[in-house]
Amino acid sequence: MYTLRTLPGDDVRQIMWRFAERFDLQMSVQSARSIARSTVAKLVAEGARNTHEWTDQKNDLLTAFDQSGLTALFMDPHQGGFIEGPKNFALALVAFELAWVDAGAATSSLASNLALAPIHEKGTPEQRDYYMSKCVPPQPGEDREIWRGAFALTEPLPYVGVDTGVLCGKASVADWTDGEEPMLQIDKRGRFITNMDFANFVTAAVESNDDRIKGTFMVILEDTDEGIFDRGAPTLKMVHQLSSTRDPVLNLKVPASRIIGGYDVVDGVIVPKYNHSEIIGAVFHRTRIPVGLMTSAKLISAVEPVIRYHRNRFRGGDACSEGSPRFDKGLQINEDALQRLVDLWASGEAGCSLAFGASRLADRFDPIEKAKEAHFEAEGVTSVRKQMGVLRKLKEQVFEFIDLEYTPEAERDQVRYAELQSDTLVQYAYMEALAGVLNPGVKLWNTGEGANKMREAVALVGGYGITEDCPGFLMQKWTDCQLEATYEGPEAVQRRHLTMTMTSDVFQHIMENWVKQMQTAGQQVPGLGGYVIASAMELWQWTLNHLKTAKDDDGRKLYHNKRQGVTFAMADALGWLLGPYYLAMDVMELIEKGPMSPTLAEGLDDLTGFYKDLCHIQAARAAGEVARICTELVYGFNTCSCNQPAAEPGGQSTCAGREDLVDFRALKAKVDMCMAGSRMAKDRAGHALTEVMIPEALDYPIG
Ligand SMILES: Cc1cc2nc3c(=O)[nH]c(=O)nc-3n(C[C@H](O)[C@H](O)[C@H](O)COP(=O)(O)OP(=O)(O)OC[C@H]3O[C@@H](n4cnc5c(N)ncnc54)[C@H](O)[C@@H]3O)c2cc1C
Repeated sequence: MYTLRTLPGDDVRQIMWRFAERFDLQMSVQSARSIARSTVAKLVAEGARNTHEWTDQKNDLLTAFDQSGLTALFMDPHQGGFIEGPKNFALALVAFELAWVDAGAATSSLASNLALAPIHEKGTPEQRDYYMSKCVPPQPGEDREIWRGAFALTEPLPYVGVDTGVLCGKASVADWTDGEEPMLQIDKRGRFITNMDFANFVTAAVESNDDRIKGTFMVILEDTDEGIFDRGAPTLKMVHQLSSTRDPVLNLKVPASRIIGGYDVVDGVIVPKYNHSEIIGAVFHRTRIPVGLMTSAKLISAVEPVIRYHRNRFRGGDACSEGSPRFDKGLQINEDALQRLVDLWASGEAGCSLAFGASRLADRFDPIEKAKEAHFEAEGVTSVRKQMGVLRKLKEQVFEFIDLEYTPEAERDQVRYAELQSDTLVQYAYMEALAGVLNPGVKLWNTGEGANKMREAVALVGGYGITEDCPGFLMQKWTDCQLEATYEGPEAVQRRHLTMTMTSDVFQHIMENWVKQMQTAGQQVPGLGGYVIASAMELWQWTLNHLKTAKDDDGRKLYHNKRQGVTFAMADALGWLLGPYYLAMDVMELIEKGPMSPTLAEGLDDLTGFYKDLCHIQAARAAGEVARICTELVYGFNTCSCNQPAAEPGGQSTCAGREDLVDFRALKAKVDMCMAGSRMAKDRAGHALTEVMIPEALDYPIG
């Protein structure tokens, strides 16, 4: 039995989340943390959340972000920022720190970046530099306002929501003098638009209702443009009150140069370079990751307040005498209180490992995506269909790369690996397939399942849990989860996305490698839960292949995009698998790199023992969910014949006799058996919570 001495600190996180060598990121973490635990915590404790309006008090948040460098985090150094290259991981770390105290504040810090994201991803170089530079705080000697933006896609009912196809925002040509820039009239109404109280510009999705403009696009609107810039009514939201949300009405005349990404004039028609779907696809590919992370951060943040409450529950007065178990351990004398907290912690760790893994991939993917676009442009391969054709032909090389990528360094052909690593298109195909699963996976699983788990945190603090002044703001954190599960596309959107990406050959090949990797982990790192992850992945893959050809008793195909009862369930099952896999990878990193850390070397076995148990617990939970979902789908569309007159009661002869399911039954039994040890892991981890040292008081106020 090990002892967990203290709650894991930065030294542990930096190794697991792979930023021990990045001092720039460590600085950003410190900045975000100090704001979270001072300005943000004070606002929550003082009840600033109890109004829908954006108040002066809430505005302190923006000032704090500006002064600490967080506002400039998204920009490149030449635009006034300080981190060169992609910043998905940096933004994820900041979202984690702010959401530790309040996710609305985290949203506020990210919302201007969301407005800039269409410009950042698809804008012209001029648009990018102009707007990004306007949004950084003034440099010494400069005197100017800091611009903030809002991203306006969602529209009043019955228009854009989950379905982004039918836009009510319209664009027409206002004036077009020969040889001059056309002027456009943009009419856009928004619903639930974040940052709208103070946005200086809005990036809005609109559709042409004029023969002289083609299709849909995104356009930049400024608050000083000619026309109506009405910020609209505040959204009466009951969560995330430290972010601003309103329903704006915008009707403005703007030059066509504001079309994001630019345009061509073809036969007298303005043809935007990118339609709105292409832009929002590129934006959400990245921005959904920190949202998922917010929920997971809150789960881990709940651990310390819950332990403190449990330990102190009976102290004071004459409820028990000093030195008695009731006095010393409080509610921690009960196994259930300990083990539910362990479950919650494991869930938070898995979500964080997954989200940070996804954001690191997004950083690697950014330059590859740009290089791929440059490559195709140079080759004149401009249509998406033709590009897909070229990429498809590279399948064998992509598979070869994936096999090498997941082979231990000492065993792989380094020369060939390096060769394929420097092949832009091979890298693009690999990363695109993986990001296409991880990004919606983070948003779907972390927020949806995270909301369920956050309820457990509230429950663990009893009546106090549902009060405004519960330590750690647990009630507010729980309700906030529902918004994280909703904005930037609710769960249905993520499931739909996964339905399309999780079946790709490339992702399936990646998963085959994950299975092998987890089997090896099962052998080499006992107690991690590698085998149970591997067997659940095998079951999921088998089920997917089976469903693709199987039919229900009415002869209808099971795996079909109209049949969300099947496809969405498989997406949910996959969501469960991703977290434990990434947590297992992070724990193995801690086992490998921990001994090199001067602060961790002593007591490392205890620490990694605890983390292995957390991973095992989460792996078994995930495998159970996967097995349940797969079993329901495999058996659930055929009628039970146990009640036929000739059948033996409960004899299951029809089901048991199905030859096509022999492998399924074997794999399912393997999942069951690979649960071995997982409950012992929970016993140990629960016990560790009785001993862990926590600070005397929470480091942020409690009201
Ligand atoms: C506080 C807040 C801030 C926001 N900030 C912004 C912002 O800054 N910019 C912006 O553009 N938007 C913003 N949004 C809007 C947000 O992104 C949308 O609310 C969200 O995408 C869902 O759209 P909807 O509310 O119209 O849901 P609906 O489209 O009405 O969907 C409701 C539910 O119906 C089900 N459903 C719908 N369609 C399907 C389907 N095809 N398949 C299966 N199930 C389905 C799902 O359960 C879904 O959750 C914000 C929202 C809130 C609440």
